[in-house]
Amino acid sequence: MDLTNKVALVTGSGRGIGQAIGMKLSEVGATVVINDVDEAAANQAAELIKSQQHQSLAIAADVSSADDINRMVETIKRTYGKIDILVNNAGISRDKLVMVMSDEDWDKVLNISLKSAFLCSRAVLRYMVKQRWGRIINISSLAGVVGNAGQANYASAKAGLIGFTKSLAKEIASRNITVNAVAPGFIDTDMTQKLDDKYKDELKKRIPSGTFGSPRDVAEAVAFFASDEAGYITGQVLNIDGGIGGL
Ligand code: NAP
Repeated sequence: MDLTNKVALVTGSGRGIGQAIGMKLSEVGATVVINDVDEAAANQAAELIKSQQHQSLAIAADVSSADDINRMVETIKRTYGKIDILVNNAGISRDKLVMVMSDEDWDKVLNISLKSAFLCSRAVLRYMVKQRWGRIINISSLAGVVGNAGQANYASAKAGLIGFTKSLAKEIASRNITVNAVAPGFIDTDMTQKLDDKYKDELKKRIPSGTFGSPRDVAEAVAFFASDEAGYITGQVLNIDGGIGGL
């Protein structure tokens, strides 16, 4: 895989899976724009990439805000003249049973984890369409494929991302732009750190590989979807889950 001369935007990449994706894309040659709502986290992740002698730019923006996204994409266009790869990674969870879930818990998760992908994709597509090359990779989740009690908001957002991926893939395939998704299972990040230890041990027993995945496991698949080698693959969802599949 060689992404030299490609410019990639990874949303929510100040830490966790997004950060690993940013690092991996930079290792295979891409210039990586690190976005995070937390400016310090974005700067730190971009500095880490630069310390490996790769190109990176940090942009603080809230991906649930159309204004922030448009400003971010304009900055990328002004700085690098183009944008080739978009990874819609930013996502949050606010777990509650539906009976006690507030409107705010629903809206916040849907806005940050699903609407953001629509807003970011719309903002970059006009450039990708003009240059007749583009890659969009959406970070869905196993929860979006099989559902999960206590995560109706999160699972709906992640299932929505799959519908979005398949629909957009069909809309723009003729422009040499591919749209794919990955559906990670349990990955070792802050998001899963907050689960209690007993539950984590139970989960590990149910995962055929016996372990949680690492952010790097997700990053490797994303880099493949971003590459020229994956040019004839679009509208697909790849589970990255140690074999747990249907739960
Ligand atoms: P994480 O450690 O919580 O990281 C999420 C990142 O998104 C953080 O850097 C966070 O910034 C950023 N973010 C949150 N709200 C944002 C906003 N409004 N605008 C821009 N950035 C924002 O989560 P993760 O585990 O790396 O997850 C990354 C993606 O993978 C998410 O979409 C998640 O749903 C998905 N995923 C994770 C797992 C897993 O097991 N970990 C499994 C399946 C799917 P702050 O640092 O400021 O909070």
